[in-house]
Amino acid sequence: MNNKLLVLGTIAYDAIETPFGKTGKILGGCATYIGLAASHFTSQCGLISILGGDFEEKHLTLLKEKKLDLEGVEQLQEEKTFFWSGKYHNDLNTRTTLETQLNVLTKFEPKVPEKFRDARMVLLGNLDPNIQLKVLAQMKQQPDLIVMDTMNFWIESYRDKLDELIAKVDVISINDEEARQLTQKHSLVEAAKDLQAMGPKYVVIKKGEHGALLFHGSNIFCAPGLPLEEVFDPTGAGDSFIGGFTAYLVQRKKINFEEMKTAVIVGSAMASFTVQEFGTTALEKMTFLQLAQRIQAFKSLTEFDIELT
Ligand code: AMP
Repeated sequence: MNNKLLVLGTIAYDAIETPFGKTGKILGGCATYIGLAASHFTSQCGLISILGGDFEEKHLTLLKEKKLDLEGVEQLQEEKTFFWSGKYHNDLNTRTTLETQLNVLTKFEPKVPEKFRDARMVLLGNLDPNIQLKVLAQMKQQPDLIVMDTMNFWIESYRDKLDELIAKVDVISINDEEARQLTQKHSLVEAAKDLQAMGPKYVVIKKGEHGALLFHGSNIFCAPGLPLEEVFDPTGAGDSFIGGFTAYLVQRKKINFEEMKTAVIVGSAMASFTVQEFGTTALEKMTFLQLAQRIQAFKSLTEFDIELT
């Protein structure tokens, strides 16, 4: 068994608007958030992504300082980095994509470095399902766990390929809106059942500030959202969640429902940092001790005694 975690996703520039302000171009992308979160649990996390010539050296340095392996990250000097901009509405749970510039992503042919072809776990971040499938096809042996994420952008236009991918993964992590869109079921319990029937044994449905649900057969676990005084920017919360979730599991011997429950709490704690500042700032600064304290806060939040006589 090794502790290697292979992560596919975008490394991007984002521009974000929330009720609290607006950013210029800042570092983003699902692989960035996932990698920053995962770096707290494994020093063997390899990213697969693509950058344009405009990607700044200081951002590459940041990823390297977090000990993320960038051998699988290609840079095309004549192209521009993937760009996404979005605007959050007043409740911060809903957002509108203002612009998606695929840029360098249209030229992306993912190459898994030899040393990561036997990775214990593979995390397929939100991307074109064709690319997600190409990464899986390069693995030399079946990983212990394959986790995937997706979003409305891919659900709407790439449904057949997406279904092919969903059939091959062990865990799908999506938000409530996406679960309903994929299954056409309003009840999340029914949606999770349908998703399990499509392939994944485990289904995680994220509900923004209201926490996350984990489904496995007839088992359900519900993680709360930590009530926070200040939420500035939800971007990357889902990616930080899944990065923390999977990286926690990669250093555990067993993979079962009990371990997954802890992983959901770790992921939720990780995401609770991300949302407290714009972009990756809070996640970059977070220490392992702060994470541990927040996990404790999650425990206290949900612990109660009850006696019915
Ligand atoms: P999240 O808020 O966790 O859903 O993820 C936000 C990140 O996803 C941003 O940093 C964006 O750069 C990235 N992103 C947005 N749209 C896409 C897309 N169509 N494919 C891949 N990544 C995207």
